[in-house]
Amino acid sequence: MQAADATRLQKEWEAKGSPPCEHPRLEKEYYLSAQTGDKVCTTCGEDFSPAELKKMGR
Ligand SMILES: [Zn+2]
Repeated sequence: MQAADATRLQKEWEAKGSPPCEHPRLEKEYYLSAQTGDKVCTTCGEDFSPAELKKMGR
């Protein structure tokens, strides 16, 4: 997913009152054609660093 799309999802999620999200699906985050190394939730747009992903076991 593009980083810009993740930002848009985050704003939409905030507009809904930021309900809890279990982050059912994570995708690699890209800035244009380059991977950022992070993953983003396709539901709420939150991004996770590799260290956070490891901690979460994802
Ligand atoms: Zn999520």
